[in-house]
Amino acid sequence: MKKRLSQRSIAWGCVLTLLCGTTLLTNTLLGSGFLPGTAYAGWMLPASSDAAYPRPGVSEPVSPLLLKPVGSATGREAVEAPGWPYVKGAADGSSKGIFLPGDGASPVMARLDEPSPPPPAPPSLPARPIEKPAPQPLSVRIVEYHLNAELDTEGKLIRATSSLTWKNPGTVPVHELYFHLYPNAFESKKTTFMKESGGKLREDASKDNNVGSMQIGTIKTEDGIDLTSRIAYVQPDDGNTDDHTLLKVPLAKAVGPGEKVTLNTDYTVKLPQVFARMGYAGDFVMAGQWFPKVAVYETKGTRGRAEEGWNLHQYHGNSEFYADFGIFDVRIKVPSSYKVAATGFPIRPAQDDGKTKTYAFYADDVHDFAWAASPHFIYYEEPYATPQLPGVRIKLYLDPKHEKLKARYIAAAKKALARYSQWYGSYPYSTLSIVVPPADGNGAGGMEYPTLITAWGAGEDNPNLELERVVVHEIGHQFFYGMAASNEFEEAWLDEGFTSYAEDRLMETEYGVRPNLLVEASYITAPAPLRLNSWSYKDHHHYAENVYTRAKLVLKEMERRVGADTMNKIMRTYFQRWKFKHPTSADFQQAVEDVTKTSWKEFFDQYVYNGMMVDYAVTTIQTNRITENGQTFYENKVQIQRHGGTYPNVPIRFHFADGTQVDKTWEGADSEVIMKLNHSAPIDWVALDPQHAIVLENKRINSFMKTNVDPKLSVRLNLGAVKLLETVLGWIAW
Ligand SMILES: [Zn+2]
Repeated sequence: MKKRLSQRSIAWGCVLTLLCGTTLLTNTLLGSGFLPGTAYAGWMLPASSDAAYPRPGVSEPVSPLLLKPVGSATGREAVEAPGWPYVKGAADGSSKGIFLPGDGASPVMARLDEPSPPPPAPPSLPARPIEKPAPQPLSVRIVEYHLNAELDTEGKLIRATSSLTWKNPGTVPVHELYFHLYPNAFESKKTTFMKESGGKLREDASKDNNVGSMQIGTIKTEDGIDLTSRIAYVQPDDGNTDDHTLLKVPLAKAVGPGEKVTLNTDYTVKLPQVFARMGYAGDFVMAGQWFPKVAVYETKGTRGRAEEGWNLHQYHGNSEFYADFGIFDVRIKVPSSYKVAATGFPIRPAQDDGKTKTYAFYADDVHDFAWAASPHFIYYEEPYATPQLPGVRIKLYLDPKHEKLKARYIAAAKKALARYSQWYGSYPYSTLSIVVPPADGNGAGGMEYPTLITAWGAGEDNPNLELERVVVHEIGHQFFYGMAASNEFEEAWLDEGFTSYAEDRLMETEYGVRPNLLVEASYITAPAPLRLNSWSYKDHHHYAENVYTRAKLVLKEMERRVGADTMNKIMRTYFQRWKFKHPTSADFQQAVEDVTKTSWKEFFDQYVYNGMMVDYAVTTIQTNRITENGQTFYENKVQIQRHGGTYPNVPIRFHFADGTQVDKTWEGADSEVIMKLNHSAPIDWVALDPQHAIVLENKRINSFMKTNVDPKLSVRLNLGAVKLLETVLGWIAW
């Protein structure tokens, strides 16, 4: 799913204004300071321990130069980061400052601009994508669904039957099956989803009395044995008996290892007004999570399991989905005036009896099936192929309001399919459908299903690049959710974080929009582990801050450390190794280690399995004037502390009153270091990571300290700035 940007853009505007004000002092002071520095041969750098401090033979301290109190635990006395966000970004060219128009790639705020005509997508090879079952299975097919649905547009209902054949992939007999009945999340305000989300997802709030549900009529075996009286709702996560999103179906006869069982179910879905990905908006219907979906039975070793068994979770406010691969054969009956978009491809033209129309779709090697219907859809189709993309029909189901924008949707889809196929591996399906919901159906927008995505609702006449961004984000999910089908209940970052990373790379490559990692890192105010059950985050903002933004920054940090080429190899290796399986964080770590031939344990322990960020601080600067053997010099002592995770070789810039500048690094593993620099002039300022190389540094306010302003003035201004900034950052966190 795509998180919304609009509020963030407003918040960014505010925070940038404030940063403008609060950085004025330092930027003025530093204005001439970022000239190429000259290393001064006479300075001494002790080993990174306190042993060298204090140095013997020190003469009297010169009090006017002792400007900072010693032992600052919080680093709040520090002046804030140099030049941020005016200063150009890191040496690799990423994250250029926000106030650098005409600097090549557009900064993040360019997302608000009307794009100039985008460069075209790679031209298509002669393409004749064939819509038929895959000649060879790409996945281990555990499920085979035959679904028959009829849309009742008056009653806002889907009446349907399901025939599911499930294969036991394990080594022991299985006595019961479990099904996700996701629409029951909207049954009442007492469900786990509604209690956790407060009836709100992204910016969409569910209206009062807006209910949705999935009622099971009967469940029978192939032999006609009725299991309906045996079924029971279970609540393994929270024991909330008002939650009916997970159903246990005890079988009449156990299913042996490798054996299959078929269950025939009839059921009715009551559609809510569009909320949390599904429902109706006027004539528009989004049928996501609309059938009883069997849970995943994990074999021993799958995702590190010690024993085989079901992976069972309810539908939570923050969680998305997890399912097994297989085949879907689906009939959908709608009023004759309706058009239907669906996962997979049509196996024959829709049959029209003058009153109703029945569509027939088929999809294989997918783990979900969604459809959308509307009498208003405007339909376009275009075949597309590149050397890495065997051939796909891009199908666009447009709300009429966006008819004139069809070229932008199609171009974004082509760029995304071409690039991701080039970077990670071929998109193997013959179709990719894009549904553009009406404006009031936006709660169903920005969502991914196998071979089908939804764009934002067609609200604005002239939307900014968010139109393209959501399309390329959701197409990214075809790779990191559709194929590398990780468990979104337990490790959502493998989906959203990876997709956000791929999205940023594509937006930069194809649309010239660079993310401002500096600003995004500053948003991380409540870092939490990335491998965490989605309902264990405090709220949706906390979930999004970590699973989307922090996860992406962790991948960007990794990219900075290994270089873009190696990072591309890591991502490709991971995807190729794990497509059509269910990878975990540990599997990704293994791919990273295999490609780099280095241990990443510390990195993963700190930034993935724990919620750490990087935070190095200049805490004290002390200067003594010393006369020795008739010579006078200044002994400058700079205390630097580590308050977060480690970073190898922290860059430090020392600037002296005579204009001399020295760049050094500290290996950064200890909790503290005191660096001593003897020079003919006192130190003027110290800046950590002046080129903003450290992506995960989220508290740059303490990364800089200046000595040559009046101490009272400096401290007073600083504390004001810190307080203001913290208030604002707390407010904008989503
Ligand atoms: Zn997403």
